[in-house]
Amino acid sequence: METDTINLLSERINALSESETIAMAKKARELASTGVDVINLSLGEPDFQTPAHIKEAAKRAIDDGYTFYTPVPGYPELRQAIVDKLKRDNDLDYKTENIVVSTGAKQCLANLMLCLVNPGDEVIVFTPYWVTYREIIKLSGGKAVFLESSIENDFKISPEDLRAAITPNTKAILYSSPCNPTGSVYSKEELQEIAGIVAQHEHIIVIADEIYEYINFTGKHETIAQFETIKDRVIIVNGVSKGFAMTGWRLGYMAAPRQIACACDKMQGQFTSGACSIAQKAAVEALTGDMLPTKDMAAAFLRRRDMVLALVKDIPGIKSYVPQGAFYLFPDMSFYFGRRSGEYTIKNANDLCMYLLNDAHVSLVPGNAFGAPDCVRFSFAASDEKLKDAIERIKNSLEKLE
Ligand code: PLP
Repeated sequence: METDTINLLSERINALSESETIAMAKKARELASTGVDVINLSLGEPDFQTPAHIKEAAKRAIDDGYTFYTPVPGYPELRQAIVDKLKRDNDLDYKTENIVVSTGAKQCLANLMLCLVNPGDEVIVFTPYWVTYREIIKLSGGKAVFLESSIENDFKISPEDLRAAITPNTKAILYSSPCNPTGSVYSKEELQEIAGIVAQHEHIIVIADEIYEYINFTGKHETIAQFETIKDRVIIVNGVSKGFAMTGWRLGYMAAPRQIACACDKMQGQFTSGACSIAQKAAVEALTGDMLPTKDMAAAFLRRRDMVLALVKDIPGIKSYVPQGAFYLFPDMSFYFGRRSGEYTIKNANDLCMYLLNDAHVSLVPGNAFGAPDCVRFSFAASDEKLKDAIERIKNSLEKLE
């Protein structure tokens, strides 16, 4: 008989929630394993293959013997490639000492929280937020302060609300732009306004998650690190997962003030050491090589966004904002709350997603995972055929609700 070890687990892990996006994908896989044709629009990854020239660089790395432990903050060559990328794409000046390469942007964020946050410190999180933010803040002993935004304001926070949320305990501000799950993108002017507020509070650090930088439909990515008044308190988190279709390679990086970069290097040295040697060599190629595949992928996401928006327009009660980046639609679907399918009453976005999984066989993620309980996240990182089929199925299932 298996020994019951549940009571042996730490309070830390018991307090941690499972990632809802991963949980939803698991449910979809379980249903699919029973023979049901499930369309999975719940995961956050490009449906494209990693470009061939990047794969070739990885193969060369193996053949050239890059099989040993790597320097904890990354190969010097990759850190230099990141410095050059930040100059080329963002007109930012960094040195390699500011760069720490990690096992995904997720690890960069975990490193940062563990290095910056003391118990009781507050981290202001622009809401809706990426699921993991809430949990890693919790893990670090900090308190997440959710700064709400609404679909009417394109899911962007207001400067007044930000000012009001800052307290002497505020340690950091954390957001993604382009945003997962909303696709909203902060403009230069909006970031400047935020920077102006941060400039008045010397104890606050800004963590700008720019992982969707290259999937931006506004024409130009803007970073808050461009404002000199606060640059020494800004940390950029980025990686190759989304822009180069490299989610499985697990390679992210941060550009941070030197002492924070050193702290994260120390933290990572005790946790995982340096990121995978082969992924690092592939990332050098991604960041220095041909950007055409990245541009083509972004163009495909834009085309699909427009297709999906046109298709959902025909469904009553779906109130959507037009995403300006990333590959998600995040409509308000509260119109359907309170409706019934036989005995089953849809009380919230969770129930709605379960209904759509079981009836339409389409998996989506309920907005409560992202701090927006009226919304549902659809990923449009899927083929045109799948997207059309999924939306047709959703429409039919919603029409059946009483
Ligand atoms: N930040 C945001 C906003 C994301 O959506 C994701 C992945 O879904 C990540 C970070 C993590 O990226 P990585 O694959 O580099 O860990």
